Amino acid sequence: MDLAGTSQDTPRAGEPLSLGEIVENGLCIGCGLCRSIAGAGRVEMVMTPEGRERPVATEVLDRQTLVTINAVCPGTRIAGPPPAQMSDGALSDTVWGPVERLVLGRAGDPTVRFVGSGGGVLTALGQFLLSTGRVKFVLHISASRSQPMRNERRLSFDAVSMLEGAGSRYGPAATLMDFGDVLDRGQPFALIAKPCDITAVRNLARLDRRVDQYMRYALAFVCGGASDLSKSEQVLQRFGLAEDELTLFRYRGHGNPGLNRIETKDGRAFELTYRQLWEDEDKWMIQPRCKICPDAIGQVADIAVHDAWLNGGPAMEDEPLNSIIVRTSRGLDLFDAAVEAGTLEVKRETSIAEISELQSHQVRKRRAVWARLKGMAIAGRPVPYVTDLALADCAAQNSMAENLAEGRGARDRARRGRLGEPPAAPRVGKGDKQLKDELR
Ligand SMILES: Cc1cc2nc3c(=O)[nH]c(=O)nc-3n(C[C@H](O)[C@H](O)[C@H](O)COP(=O)(O)OP(=O)(O)OC[C@H]3O[C@@H](n4cnc5c(N)ncnc54)[C@H](O)[C@@H]3O)c2cc1C
Ligand code: SF4
Ligand code: SF4
Repeated sequence: MDLAGTSQDTPRAGEPLSLGEIVENGLCIGCGLCRSIAGAGRVEMVMTPEGRERPVATEVLDRQTLVTINAVCPGTRIAGPPPAQMSDGALSDTVWGPVERLVLGRAGDPTVRFVGSGGGVLTALGQFLLSTGRVKFVLHISASRSQPMRNERRLSFDAVSMLEGAGSRYGPAATLMDFGDVLDRGQPFALIAKPCDITAVRNLARLDRRVDQYMRYALAFVCGGASDLSKSEQVLQRFGLAEDELTLFRYRGHGNPGLNRIETKDGRAFELTYRQLWEDEDKWMIQPRCKICPDAIGQVADIAVHDAWLNGGPAMEDEPLNSIIVRTSRGLDLFDAAVEAGTLEVKRETSIAEISELQSHQVRKRRAVWARLKGMAIAGRPVPYVTDLALADCAAQNSMAENLAEGRGARDRARRGRLGEPPAAPRVGKGDKQLKDELR
């Protein structure tokens, strides 16, 4: 395995950022790949007081390890899709990136489309990959069995396990914390994850050829940002609950969008609608890295899936539905086979214009990120090394005044330290067992 990395890929030419610098400059999303690279024992993921999973080095990391981490970390290097992944006929939109096929659809199985977050498309595709033997397992996440408000990475080998992981989990998720072990299995697999997780793995593919050898498919959801665990803790406070009372914390799914449902060990149940959960934007507690995310729309995935609330937002109970962006030739082959088998149902074709309306926040972010990164750089902050994501072209769709406002806003927030984070440290005041679990 060649994990050398190159120092040209780091935000600071020649000198890699330390893990502390990545975290404190607000570039970390807590994917866990650095832990996998450095090795458990040298880097551990901890839950911080802010409710973020962050890496902490337990010893001084040598320069070569840091160069490698900087080359793979989705906070320091963010590359767009290689053109070779697309067929000649594919469309490439400035904002939305590569598109082989764009449809509204859902899972064919009524249980999957009910339990799934929107229309259950990602779960259905995972099940299809397993049942057809295209992969041996799927790497994704699910609610932790012991702490159901938290997430843990899951390897699913069958349809039942895929379904257990269905649903959007808005809190922290260190999907890649033992990705080296996943590769060591030497078996074909698929990854279903956030776009930034897939960015990290695509970065690693340049250094470790086993990624392309074994990771047959990478499927993403379009992502508005991951919340701090504190967001979920606020929900518990609202009901006067403590985390150790819970047996279930579901954000959504069991309908589209379905209810945020909490169940306790003594048999009580509490529910919030999707609108109640997200009504106050000041309390979304989205992680800093998400605010400068150049690819929250999963351009590096084979297929990216998103919500399709055709009436402009979720009602109490919408029809189960997703918008499906097929991005690569490999993704198209999978999509066609899944439709042919009845695993996916297509409602109708959609268009860039329609998804831009359904996902207007994503369009605004794609157009804003170039200026935000410039503003951070002017404030002297390190910024990710971004390639092939047409950020300047997206910004050119804004007026000069809009770009100036974005750039100045980011510069000023960066100068005031508002785009950064405190140094990563585990929460204090916890029982020994919980701290031990967090330092696992
Ligand atoms: C943090 C977050 C932000 C999102 N923001 C948007 C948005 O702005 N616009 C939009 O249209 N849709 C957004 N979604 C996606 C949307 O909620 C649906 O998940 C998506 O439409 C796929 O629906 P589905 O029914 O196919 O998913 P399902 O069939 O339910 O499958 C979801 C899959 O995603 C995996 N997963 C869930 N949460 C995470 C996580 N945090 N990290 C890694 N993997 C995870 C699960 O393991 C599961 O395999 C977001 C989802 C999340 C988790
Ligand atoms: S984003 Fe991932 S690889 Fe980068 S520092 Fe955070 S946990 Fe490590
Ligand atoms: S917005 Fe971007 S950085 Fe944040 S969780 Fe989503 S893909 Fe990752």
